[in-house]
Amino acid sequence: MIRTARDDSRPAIDSFREECGIFGVFGTENASAIAALGLHALQHRGQEAAGIVSFDGNQFFAHRAQGRVGDSFGSGKVIGMLPGNAAIGHNRYSTSGTKTQLRDIQPIFAEIAQGGVAIAHNGNLTNARTLKRDLVQRGCIFQSTMDTEVIVHLIATASGPTFLDRLIEALHQVEGAYSLIALSETGVIGARDPNGVRPLVLGELHGQAVLASETCAFDIIGAKFKRSVAPGEIVHIGRDGVRSLPGALGRAPRTFCIFEYIYFARPDSVVEGKNVYAVRQQIGRLLARDAPADADIVVPVPDSGVPAGLGYADQAGLPFELGIIRNHYVGRTFIEPTDEIRHLGVRLKHNVNADAIDGKRIVLVDDSIVRGTTSTKIVEMLRTNGAREVHMRIASPPTTHPCYYGVDTPERKELIAAQMDENAIAAKIGADSLRFVRLESLFEAVHGGQPNGKRMPYCAACFTGDYPIELIDDMHVELPLLLEET
Ligand code: AMP
Repeated sequence: MIRTARDDSRPAIDSFREECGIFGVFGTENASAIAALGLHALQHRGQEAAGIVSFDGNQFFAHRAQGRVGDSFGSGKVIGMLPGNAAIGHNRYSTSGTKTQLRDIQPIFAEIAQGGVAIAHNGNLTNARTLKRDLVQRGCIFQSTMDTEVIVHLIATASGPTFLDRLIEALHQVEGAYSLIALSETGVIGARDPNGVRPLVLGELHGQAVLASETCAFDIIGAKFKRSVAPGEIVHIGRDGVRSLPGALGRAPRTFCIFEYIYFARPDSVVEGKNVYAVRQQIGRLLARDAPADADIVVPVPDSGVPAGLGYADQAGLPFELGIIRNHYVGRTFIEPTDEIRHLGVRLKHNVNADAIDGKRIVLVDDSIVRGTTSTKIVEMLRTNGAREVHMRIASPPTTHPCYYGVDTPERKELIAAQMDENAIAAKIGADSLRFVRLESLFEAVHGGQPNGKRMPYCAACFTGDYPIELIDDMHVELPLLLEET
């Protein structure tokens, strides 16, 4: 079902969107150390907090902490407290305005009739508030603001005989985007929503299966990438190997998040069968074709604009220069939770390489423009350091709508491209010109073009406002904000 969200600002549901990295391993020695390495490779998917739950065949062990994986799990001491041959982990990306509390760090753990279970989830459920209201009315007590806790209650109150039966029953009740990894006493389970919005991949390490959000998590541990978990599929990894239940969660038109290709995934990952770096370079080439500029050099906004900048320079036949240098010890700008810090973060993060840009007409390439904050600062920095002209080129179409499926985007009124056209944005950010890549070109880069009249197998709602999964909570805005942080 396709729904277009209300055109005014989004309701205050930002507090429980979760975009994250997840990892799971079963049947391997040092499972928690492997999980920590996997999470480290997935650090770009969330830097606010991390957690690991392990199982030693008898007991579950958990450690969760604010901050980066290396800081919390880099020591042998912490890993030593997480024994066992099975472990799952989670990196949390907090959304703007919220401060992560310990109770909101995943994996979430609970004791149900079938024993202990831990769950780590990436995505956002569009009916979490509606479900939570019903569960609370039935007497359930919630301890966190996470969508994931709704899933735990649905499992606990389901009727199936095994944990797997109950998980399937629970997931049939939820709507939205979810890739999740669960740990039970009998194995590790991976599940992907029927639309396949968020990524989940299956790999093999020493003959044992591993699950992760992205393939870069396999590279770090020397695991072999096998395949993507299919939309609606459940994968059970246990003592008897890997069991797949295709379509167990239902079937729906595939709508993989196109923003994973543009920004979110790591460029060295293979996402839905395609190398992200190659896709981004191709978007840059098509951007140069769509929006050429009279310029001397191409400068990317690091790191997000680098692959598209290379593609642009290649197509335009212009030199590619690192005219901006990024300090790698500062996290992604948007990950900083408040506006003030975000503003400060931009200056902390980028510096101009003045010699490379002095007197030059620059094509400045970035992957996306959201509020226009980063771009304004960077254009100003380039100008004060001697750039003659700055022509901004964006390797995605205008971001005009918020994401309800797990990517952190502000409400519509804060999206600069929802308010202004290209010329007005250029004037606002101080650039000589600004152009976006066309949506058709984006599809061409990702998919090799749009088959005649056919719907593309991607969610591009942030550019079109066509939301492929019903926004149930959003249609009942009178619901109390039960999941809001207090
Ligand atoms: P701005 O100029 O303030 O609109 O910021 C644009 C920058 O934010 C680009 O460099 C993007 O790479 C980055 N960006 C886009 N979407 C996100 C997101 N969901 N989370 C974090 N950063 C993002």
